[in-house]
Amino acid sequence: MAIDFLYPEYEIKRDRDKCICCRVCERQCANEAHWYDAELQMMMCDSAKCVNCHRCVSLCPTRALKIVKTDHTFKENANWTGEHIAEIYRQAGTGGVLLSSMGNPKKYPIYWDKMLINASQVTNPPIDPLREPMETKVFLGAKPGRVEFNAKGEIKNNLSPQLKLEVPIMFSAMSYGSISYNAHESLARAAKELGTFYNTGEGGLHEDFYKYGENTIVQVASGRFGVHKDYLNAGAAIEIKMGQGAKPGIGGHLPGIKVREDISRTRMIPEGSDAISPAPHHDIYSIEDLRQLVYSLKEASDYKKPVIVKIAAVHNVAAIASGIARGGADIIAIDGYRGGTGAAPTRIRDNVGIPIELALAAVDQRLREEGIRNNVSIVVGGSIRSSADVVKAIALGADAVYIATSALMALGCHLCRSCQKGNCNWGIATQRPELVRRLNPDIGYKRLVNLVTAWNHEIKEIMGGMGINSIESLRGNRLMLRGIGLTEKELSILGIKHAGE
Ligand code: SF4
Ligand code: SF4
Ligand code: SF4
Repeated sequence: MAIDFLYPEYEIKRDRDKCICCRVCERQCANEAHWYDAELQMMMCDSAKCVNCHRCVSLCPTRALKIVKTDHTFKENANWTGEHIAEIYRQAGTGGVLLSSMGNPKKYPIYWDKMLINASQVTNPPIDPLREPMETKVFLGAKPGRVEFNAKGEIKNNLSPQLKLEVPIMFSAMSYGSISYNAHESLARAAKELGTFYNTGEGGLHEDFYKYGENTIVQVASGRFGVHKDYLNAGAAIEIKMGQGAKPGIGGHLPGIKVREDISRTRMIPEGSDAISPAPHHDIYSIEDLRQLVYSLKEASDYKKPVIVKIAAVHNVAAIASGIARGGADIIAIDGYRGGTGAAPTRIRDNVGIPIELALAAVDQRLREEGIRNNVSIVVGGSIRSSADVVKAIALGADAVYIATSALMALGCHLCRSCQKGNCNWGIATQRPELVRRLNPDIGYKRLVNLVTAWNHEIKEIMGGMGINSIESLRGNRLMLRGIGLTEKELSILGIKHAGE
């Protein structure tokens, strides 16, 4: 009894008048949604196999294809939506946890869109970024309370190690395994050209990418995959991953099917075995334990590299960040609930965590109140969608941002949210060699460079409009923001006034 038969959510529409039966769509769809019927001499399709990745649509030479949301519906019910019903059928059929990927797609408030940026008029005039110098360079790491100079004008303080970014944007953690070799190469090369950093994620560092070490952040996660002394010393900074915005409170899972030969070598696990990282680090049950790991990693890297602690944005994030700042970390990375992932249980992704905007404001405020804001830099991620989001994040208190989903879009991702299946038609979230080849790193890295360069131009323009000429002057400058359509409570947490005030 096929009670779990579900009509597809999206339908493939082919314009028969335009289709020339070239079979490009058939060759491009790794989900085998298209095929040619030789008897009928026409293309056929099965919409149920389609994940709406737009690969065939983009490459159809005659624009004969489009994917549309179906108008087939369940009977209207504001409580039991079609999505709820379909998921119950699926779980009743499989008995399994629902899996998904990329960020939380639910209709929770997006606070970036409820904040407006100031611009100078008359007094404190705007700055023309084309004619006057604008500084978007950022240094991440603990800063001394006071800077002292010797007679030659050199800094006397014993400065903590710093990460120097030419732009206030870094590529966030994405492991080799969850994304492809060519995607990693694109990110590494773009980071080098831009003067910023990409992040290994929890999958170790492929031997070919050691040469990008100066632009690499190496991650240490609970599974310790690929972690050894050379790895720790290969990057410019070490990141301890305590949590991830898309799945706070749980570990990671890379299916064995994706653990092919060089991934198994890089991760130091057997080929074909599932890479399951535990929910907690088994040596961390307190801030003191975390402090021990921070200092073990500093010791292992001769105190030459900043240590980042990455956490998910959760309810008591400000108190946690305070503990981390006191635990010796140089940088705190906070990942909001809209942050992407290669695979996460759908229920966790959609229901756990808090918005990055509120988390950032709360953390910055708490560290300032405790007089320890300069002990750490703050980096935030979790759906930074444009240069305006970057400016708002820095005005709210961040030193820099992490981007991942937007970086993958620059590489071709069409946000089909099916990375967990391993069949990414764009060559990004896959290890199938014939699909990986579709992403040309020579083009991919250039597109990433273009994206970040474009954003950096826009950041300078927006800052110029505010009459601000450096990221340093923008950081934590909440007077530059006004809320729109927010409650008193939301305005108070964000630490901003309402528009009109
Ligand atoms: S790619 Fe376009 S033209 Fe070619 S077979 Fe498919 S629908 Fe027809
Ligand atoms: S999965 Fe992608 S390539 Fe395949 S039919 Fe759907 S949109 Fe086209
Ligand atoms: S990376 Fe690939 S599979 Fe994942 S959402 Fe983007 S297009 Fe889809």
